[in-house]
Amino acid sequence: MSTTREYLDWLIRDAGLVELCQMDHGKLDVGWYDNADHLLHDARTMAGSGNLFTTINRIDLNAIKAHLEAERRVVLNKVCRTPDAAVTRYCRLFFDFDPERPTDTSSTIADLAGAEARAHGLARRLAAVGWPAPAVAMSGNGYHLQFRTALPNTPEVKAQLAAIYQGLHLEFSDDVVQFDRSVRNPARLCALYGSVKRKGSDTPERPHRKSWINLPADWRQVHPRQVAALADHFARQTAAAMPPTRDRRPADAPAVSGRGDYASLDVVRWFEAHGAHVGALSGIKHGVRCPWGAEHTSASPRSGSDTIVFESDGGWPGFHCSHSHCTGRTIRDVMALWGDAGAYCSGEFIREAAHA
Ligand SMILES: [Zn+2]
Repeated sequence: MSTTREYLDWLIRDAGLVELCQMDHGKLDVGWYDNADHLLHDARTMAGSGNLFTTINRIDLNAIKAHLEAERRVVLNKVCRTPDAAVTRYCRLFFDFDPERPTDTSSTIADLAGAEARAHGLARRLAAVGWPAPAVAMSGNGYHLQFRTALPNTPEVKAQLAAIYQGLHLEFSDDVVQFDRSVRNPARLCALYGSVKRKGSDTPERPHRKSWINLPADWRQVHPRQVAALADHFARQTAAAMPPTRDRRPADAPAVSGRGDYASLDVVRWFEAHGAHVGALSGIKHGVRCPWGAEHTSASPRSGSDTIVFESDGGWPGFHCSHSHCTGRTIRDVMALWGDAGAYCSGEFIREAAHA
C-alpha cells in the first residue's frame, strides 16, 4: 500500500496544481495547491465529514484565476470548481469500476471483489498491447486504475478518449459492475486515497471504507501513440458495426425481399414491436435485446449495450451484437429472422426497372 503523501507527490509533480474538493451533503469546499504538505494538512482538517476528492490533470493557474474572477463578479463568495477549459494536459488515464447496487449505498465485500476482478482484467488486457503497469486503487466502493500519461487537452485527444471509454465500456460493463464511461472529462475529480468514502448509511454489510492506492514500483507513462492506437482500434470496431450501404452488400448476406425502402426503416419502432428495445444510448445508438440472446454465454448489462442498433444515417439502419455467437450478424440477419421489417418502413423501394 502506498501512502497518501506518496500519491500526492506524484500528482503534484505531474499536474503542478491540484484542486482539493470536499463534498459534504451538497456543500462544496474547494482549494488549489502546488504543495503536497499544504494539501495534506488541509485534507486532514476536512477529513471528519463528507468526501474528499482531487483533480488528476494539469491545471493552468492563470485560467483558474480568470475563471474565479469572472464567476465572482456575478455571484459573491461563489464556490467554483476547476473548469474543463483550465486543464492543459491529461496526466492520468482514470478508469473506474463501480459495482451495481442500490442507489446511495456503500458496496458489500462481494461488490468490491467483482470490481477488483474486472479492474485486474483491464490491466491485463492493456498490458497485452504494451501498456505499462497502472496504479491500482480501492475507491471505497469500487476499483480504479490510474495510468500515467501526458496528453494535450485538444479536441483530437477528447475524441480518442471518447472512443476508448466507449469501447472499454462495451467490453467490461455487465450486470454486476459498470465501467464508468463518464469519468473522462479533463477536470474530473477522483477520490483522495486514504480518506474515508461515505456513501449512504454506514452498516456492517455496507460499511464506509477508507480508500487506498498501490503505486507500481516503476510507474511509467503510457505513450500518446499507444493511446491513439487503442482509440483507433475501438473506432474501427464501431465503423465495422455501422450499417452497410446499399451498394456494399456482402455476397453471402442473407437475401432480403419486400417492398420497403430499408433506409426508411424505423429500427427503434421495429425492435419495440418485438419487445426488444432496451433504451437509447448515445447519438443514433440504442441498446436492444439480441434476437439470438438465448445463444449468448454471458449475461447482458442493464443498458443493453452489448447489442446495439443504429438508426439510419442515410443508409440502412445497423445491428451489432458483441457476443461471440453473433459475430458477423447484421441487420439483414434480423430482417431474415423476423420477416416483417417492411411494415416499419415509411418509404417504398422503387426498383430501377420501374423507371425504364
Ligand atoms: Zn447476440
